[in-house]
Amino acid sequence: MLLVVGGAGYIGSHTVKHLIEQNQECVIVDNLVSGNQAAVENLYNSALINNPKSQAPHFEKVDLADCLALAKIFKKHQISAVIHFAAYAYVGESVTNPRKYYLNNVVGTLNLLNAMLDAGVNKIVFSSSCATYGNPQYTPLDEKHLQNPINPYGQTKLIIEKMLTDYRVAYGLKYIALRYFNAAGADKNAQIGESHNPETHLIPLVLEAILQRTAADKKPKSVVKIFGTDYDTPDGTCIRDYIAVDDLALAHYLALEQLDNFSGCLNLGTGIGTSVKRVIAVAEEVTGQACPVEYAPRRVGDPPILLASNKMAQEVLGWTPKTIDIRDIIRTAWNWQLNRKF
Ligand code: UDP
Repeated sequence: MLLVVGGAGYIGSHTVKHLIEQNQECVIVDNLVSGNQAAVENLYNSALINNPKSQAPHFEKVDLADCLALAKIFKKHQISAVIHFAAYAYVGESVTNPRKYYLNNVVGTLNLLNAMLDAGVNKIVFSSSCATYGNPQYTPLDEKHLQNPINPYGQTKLIIEKMLTDYRVAYGLKYIALRYFNAAGADKNAQIGESHNPETHLIPLVLEAILQRTAADKKPKSVVKIFGTDYDTPDGTCIRDYIAVDDLALAHYLALEQLDNFSGCLNLGTGIGTSVKRVIAVAEEVTGQACPVEYAPRRVGDPPILLASNKMAQEVLGWTPKTIDIRDIIRTAWNWQLNRKF
């Protein structure tokens, strides 16, 4: 049985869907603060479309602050490995309210690791982030790049990476920390997808703005702000490495299989850069609708370019992203928006 903490969230739900399609048994632990109960039902429906033998995941509403409840989970289920997604992930909020981030992300993970040790479980795949690098000194970023986060969110992820290393040395913990670049897109069956409240990410904001223009009154209710048009990039807007959420899910599955052979950190990205303006142009092409935009000042803390070298993930996991064309990624996100249930 696999324990998936944060399995009702965006990347977690896509990963559980993939795991149960592969006939793995999963128990989801989620406090449902950012995760969604509906995602648990819908990921199962989606998995059934691809594999009618998929087993429904178990679900336990538990917060990582609750050590007693965590210990009970490990007693109730025979856990072989843990995948840990649960974290607060709003960069801006982490700057104004770091206490919330250190408590939930760092202390929550410490509680989880200790519960694992107490239960004799020594395998974990952890959601880290390219935010641990800070401002790139060179691109594409490889795993050896200096880690110097520029916000508390990135700090929490880096601190956890260090905890994992120390626990490996002292207690023989087997871990893989996956440093995501920009997770994007949705389940190809459009049953689950990105659903944050508030939403801050570019692709869902663009698609939501386009959808509102298609409403009965045809009046745009939200306008996408392009944060900065004077960056040192070909069109002046920031470049990011958008990685399909289904490819992230696959990487977790492969990482579980490699825990006996490798412990360490791996980048997950495509190595392909897409600018903010290009994302908007592609969304307009895919949807056939115009996106209302306005130019706005730079957002604090945004590096001009973030691109992954995914060579190490290819070597260690045998992983290569399958959906690399931004049009295909945005198409899955659009289909999800059209079919959205939560
Ligand atoms: N962005 C933007 N307008 C928005 C949201 C994002 O111009 O309303 C830009 C942001 O400055 C960044 C890129 O889009 O360059 C991706 O931002 P997102 O928040 O999706 O992901 P991040 O790279 O911050 O993890």
